[in-house]
Amino acid sequence: MAETPTSLDGVTSLYRRFRPGRFVEMRGQEHVVRALQGAVEKDRIVHAYLFSGPRGTGKTTTARILAKALNCENPVAGDACNVCASCLAITRGTSLDVVELDAASNNSVDDIREIIAGAWTGTPGRWKVYIVDEVHMLTKAAEAAFLKTLEEPPPHVVFVLATTDPHKVVATIRSRTQHLEFRLLDAATLSSLLHDVRDAAGLGVDEASLDAAVRLGRGSARDALSALDQVAATGSVAAARPVFDAVLLSLGAGDSVGVLSALHQLHHDGWDPEQLGESLAGELRQCFLLLVAPDVADAMGEDRERLSTWGQGAGLAKTVRCLETIGRTLREMKSSPVPMMLLEVALVRLTKPELDREVAALEERLTKLERSVANGVTVPAPVVAPPARPIGAVQRTVSAPVVTPAAEVTPAPTAAPVATAPVAAGPVGFDEFQQRFAAKVVPRLSRSAQIFLASAALRSLDGQVVTFAVPSESLRSNAERIQSGLRGALEHEFQMNYQFQWLVDAAMDTGPAPAPAAPFATPPRPTATVEEEPMETFTPNDESASSLSMLLMNEVFPGAEEL
Ligand SMILES: [Zn+2]
Repeated sequence: MAETPTSLDGVTSLYRRFRPGRFVEMRGQEHVVRALQGAVEKDRIVHAYLFSGPRGTGKTTTARILAKALNCENPVAGDACNVCASCLAITRGTSLDVVELDAASNNSVDDIREIIAGAWTGTPGRWKVYIVDEVHMLTKAAEAAFLKTLEEPPPHVVFVLATTDPHKVVATIRSRTQHLEFRLLDAATLSSLLHDVRDAAGLGVDEASLDAAVRLGRGSARDALSALDQVAATGSVAAARPVFDAVLLSLGAGDSVGVLSALHQLHHDGWDPEQLGESLAGELRQCFLLLVAPDVADAMGEDRERLSTWGQGAGLAKTVRCLETIGRTLREMKSSPVPMMLLEVALVRLTKPELDREVAALEERLTKLERSVANGVTVPAPVVAPPARPIGAVQRTVSAPVVTPAAEVTPAPTAAPVATAPVAAGPVGFDEFQQRFAAKVVPRLSRSAQIFLASAALRSLDGQVVTFAVPSESLRSNAERIQSGLRGALEHEFQMNYQFQWLVDAAMDTGPAPAPAAPFATPPRPTATVEEEPMETFTPNDESASSLSMLLMNEVFPGAEEL
């Protein structure tokens, strides 16, 4: 195995130093190599290729080899020589025949126009090769501009479009390319690659560490070689991946405190939430495969034993639930400002199946409700469909202290107007109550209660019964979650034991106009961005997941802070 001649400094990553320079040096991806090498040899190159596959499987490397083979001064059977001036220039990245573009950062229409303009100019070699990485990240306008060029490509130009997400590449572009799929490398291929690299680089790395690096690679040559880099630098792979033993142990035991402290330990060790989520999903997937189809699982050695044991202990149903939950959470984490919290909530849910059932049931009910509302179906009481705006305008003129017995307003089934003895005397008027509630009571509440109340309005005070209005049924069904904290804070302020009644007033629904009664001020605590999430949408989408997560989080860990 030959090292890339331009990078012998010993600092360059192994992945770069030992990047294959010819088709014959490629590991795995035989089907791709065969197709491309054959096309070069028989002069049947197409103008656009789509290379898809997981990261680190050789898409860009292969594109460069293709460029070399096309422009090589001494090609052999469709492969590059890797030593002629053209090949060396491509290796060094100085060749004018190869243009590389990362569509993730250069995705504008201007970037594409620049490429297109360049494509029509001459090139020193026979072929000009454009490598567009992460092509699914192009903007719509850039895609449209690009498509025109693909429809009538300049005769000497080859486009290689690389992507990890081929389904995100528009069909019009996809259909104008020859699609070659890159696969994860199997453990044997990675192992032989790492052995060769170790020997060629003269690294003192033992077999066990090499195996660990193969395992960490999870099918990606780049990841396996980075792991080998770490082993060579630090002498161990301990830092090369998060160790989930404690997390899995607590998950298996249903220990929510244990699972959180294990997760936090990993976080403090420097792993970011996405890395943790992805690695955990990877381990759970291995557990799942080891239960269902052990031949397909690629965990090896000790890992295989450990994950297999865990899977057997947890059982298939729980393993699947864990895998699904973490997988879903990973997706939600990508668009969340507080990904760590989502991961925490997911793990706690998994240790508390009863919590999960509640949420699932709640989500199911709300989905049904929202579907009926969306379809214009009249929903039977006590569920209330949001009325049209004009009704809302009328409702807003209703003065605050009056409970409107309108049809839109439904008493909550949870309302318990049972009077209990006051802790101490001190009935107050509604105005004073309202003022002290906003100034003194709200700040004492948990963050989730504050967020909840930001969507609610104080409507009336009748003896010891406090009536609130909320804009939707879905919010009302969550009201009981905050009641005990609310009762405590009220008691502290007024020395009274209050009961609550929650009304649904769809007219309050999130318009620019203020709700009839003054909603409570934004909570004074610094609360990052979570308050911006609308609380009234409890569809099973990302927002609802995070809103629910927030409530659950605070319920399970009162006073928990975001990370
Ligand atoms: Zn050459």
